[in-house]
Amino acid sequence: MVAHVVPNDLSAFWMPFTANRQFKKSPRMFVAARDMHYTTADGRQVLDGTAGLWCVNAGHCRPKITEAIQRQAAELDYAPAFQMGHPKAFELANRLVDLAPDGLDHVLFTNSGSESVETALKVALAYHRVKGEGSRFRLIGRERGYHGVNFGGISVGGIVSNRKMFGTLLTGVDHLPHTHNLATNAFSKGEPEHGAELADELERIVTLHDPSTIAAVIVEPVAGSTGVLIPPKGYLQKLRDITKKHGILLIFDEVITGYGRLGTPFAADYFGIVPDIMVTAKGLTNGVIPMGAVLVSAQIHDAFMTGPDHLIEFFHGYTYSGNPIASAAGIATLETYKEEGLLTRGAELGLYWQDALHSLKGEPHVIDVRNIGLVGAIELEPIAGAPTKRAFSAFVKAYESGYLIRTTGDIIALSPPLIVEKHHIDELVDGIRKVLREVE
Ligand code: PMP
Repeated sequence: MVAHVVPNDLSAFWMPFTANRQFKKSPRMFVAARDMHYTTADGRQVLDGTAGLWCVNAGHCRPKITEAIQRQAAELDYAPAFQMGHPKAFELANRLVDLAPDGLDHVLFTNSGSESVETALKVALAYHRVKGEGSRFRLIGRERGYHGVNFGGISVGGIVSNRKMFGTLLTGVDHLPHTHNLATNAFSKGEPEHGAELADELERIVTLHDPSTIAAVIVEPVAGSTGVLIPPKGYLQKLRDITKKHGILLIFDEVITGYGRLGTPFAADYFGIVPDIMVTAKGLTNGVIPMGAVLVSAQIHDAFMTGPDHLIEFFHGYTYSGNPIASAAGIATLETYKEEGLLTRGAELGLYWQDALHSLKGEPHVIDVRNIGLVGAIELEPIAGAPTKRAFSAFVKAYESGYLIRTTGDIIALSPPLIVEKHHIDELVDGIRKVLREVE
């Protein structure tokens, strides 16, 4: 293996979403990865319980993906993204449309989940404009929603700490209530029974402003970053019915739920609901190369295609939209998912995963366990006066004992690569059990 030298001075890199001062006193470093495991700088193996940041769905350093990237880099490294094409971007778009639910027929490429969100919101606003309904400018998000870190995303997002430092944000944004309710739904398996009526709040907001002012509603089908909040039975269908009734676009942010996380290609398939716009990233390239994709309905796309044909139809795009190397990585990733049946693995292993996670009920501090597909969460009782502390110390202990978990507030979130085997699940859950028994 290649020798890795960790620099003595870690000060220059201002790390994202990280307590930098704390981290740099006792850094945690990965230097290699393969399949289900990372290797740390001190040579330990760490079982990946989170697929990196919910993205390495096919596991790490898969040769087919690596080779596709190497080949593409040697053959056509970059091509201008505007007014020029290259075959791989078109091929990947075709494959995505084949994979996506019927009705989502066109693809815009981006470089991240955040950019996919901005792209989706802009498509939605512009769509109403080109249809002559420019009065529809309002956007509706949800409390505890995470839609990346750019201005549109934090405006429709519902995480206070991500919003409060950054001024006025977008105007004309309302938020639905979140659906997390431990009083009625603790220890639910799959979709919770109670709370579908929370979607009726949309009707109230729409009535308040008048439907003719509302452009789109954006939600994560399962909210990931704020702790795996699974929608109550019937909730998403209600959102679909209400949006349809009022001519409002429904955007699903599937950055986490896309590419097999729930045991179906997309959450839209799991819930049997087709949104008008679907936002994806992460698993699209197995997290290996930054790339996102926004899928839109033919109705939306075609509305832009009716103007004079010398005009650019949509004034938006990135230098790296459909980048050749990212496209090659995307194609190889989708092929890997297909060849190995990974997009349905969450359906096959879902019950095993569920039983394993729910075996943590009754362990110290555990106030909820929830799961769907191959994602789940364990919610801990916060230490009085020190929220997040207990879960964070569980995260550090888990890392030191060889498990990568993710924590948000006092919630442990788990989303292993979809190549996970039963013995990995046992190992991960037993590792967490030990940690829970040790943390204060
Ligand atoms: N939307 C959702 C639902 C996400 O989970 C994330 C990332 N965790 C994003 C958007 C933003 O993606 P990125 O970090 O690639 O910008």
